[in-house]
Amino acid sequence: MSVDMSKRKTDIGPPHHEQFLPPVIKANYGKWKYHENPKPGVLVHVGETGDKLYSVRAATPRLVSIETLRLYADLADEFCDGYMRWTSRNNVEFLLTEEKNIEPLIGKLKAAGYPVGGTGASITNIVHTQGWVHCHSSASDASGVVKAVMDELFPRFENMDLPAKLRIAFACCLNMCGAVHCSDIAILAVHRHAPVVDHANLNSQCEIPNVVASCPTGAIRPATVDGNQSVEVIDDQCMYCANCFSVCPAMTLNDPDTDGISIWVGGKLSQARHVPMFSKLAIPYVPNNPPRWPEVVDAVKNLVEVYAKNARKFERMGEWIERIGWPKFFDLTGIEFTKYHLDDFTHAGESYNRSLHVRQR
Ligand code: SF4
Ligand code: SF4
Repeated sequence: MSVDMSKRKTDIGPPHHEQFLPPVIKANYGKWKYHENPKPGVLVHVGETGDKLYSVRAATPRLVSIETLRLYADLADEFCDGYMRWTSRNNVEFLLTEEKNIEPLIGKLKAAGYPVGGTGASITNIVHTQGWVHCHSSASDASGVVKAVMDELFPRFENMDLPAKLRIAFACCLNMCGAVHCSDIAILAVHRHAPVVDHANLNSQCEIPNVVASCPTGAIRPATVDGNQSVEVIDDQCMYCANCFSVCPAMTLNDPDTDGISIWVGGKLSQARHVPMFSKLAIPYVPNNPPRWPEVVDAVKNLVEVYAKNARKFERMGEWIERIGWPKFFDLTGIEFTKYHLDDFTHAGESYNRSLHVRQR
């Protein structure tokens, strides 16, 4: 018996997405023939029947006000029967069936201050986490860093002049609610020491078994310190993730003097030409320097410019680095190679080069 999922009633989770699909997508589901990117920010998908779906992609401030949402909804009502969606990188995409509505929509978006772009070989909106606005465990701000970086890279949003698409992500701690593990350039805020335990208050504020269980690396043990029932942290096992701080405010990790930002490169999700790749460390520490984070902006801009100048057409950041080799990458970018770049994870040995073949620089 087949079940019509769109009519299924449940009080668990979101409603089935099918009921929200535009009619043109429902009619062509699984039957799209090809798509094109006629200009920055505009895509056209063509179905086997000849149906066309136009998408107009605009940047959002990511944390959006109710006024912005109302504006998007009004534009969607005016130009595309109310159909719009959010991309995984926090752009808004209007889904049109009438080609003649594209330019008037773009005109209204631009007049309201929302640039159109982010498709093809460009830098799209930077996906990011909560930062100081919301999350207690953040090692840096999210919106602030992203605003400073994107202000500098903005022309790359409106132009498709890079070798390939370039995805940038930001996460404000290594729990990485952002997509930092799989982005071409990842900006990752880091704590740099183990939690400082408030032994006098821990037992009254937190449940010790929960605190012990919260640690993914098993670095926390029950302990009696100065007569207080508390916990101890084994420094060598701690990866400064702040999971324990999430369940126990007496395990403080935030530190304005030592928290900072690391930068990673070469991740991607796409299956095209190469299997998906994880981001790898490029710069272990850049100071946390609000309100404009100039050191982070310079570092990201340098990576973008060197990649733009040296990569081949269609080559993603990780594919380019794999072709030229890491020594050449460090030469070209001027980034210092340090002991922190050596992978010392338990299973890292399996990824080391064990042959005598060396790559000529
Ligand atoms: S990345 Fe970390 S600090 Fe940022 S929102 Fe997620 S859990 Fe909080
Ligand atoms: S910061 Fe993370 S790894 Fe370190 S003790 Fe807390 S939970 Fe464990």
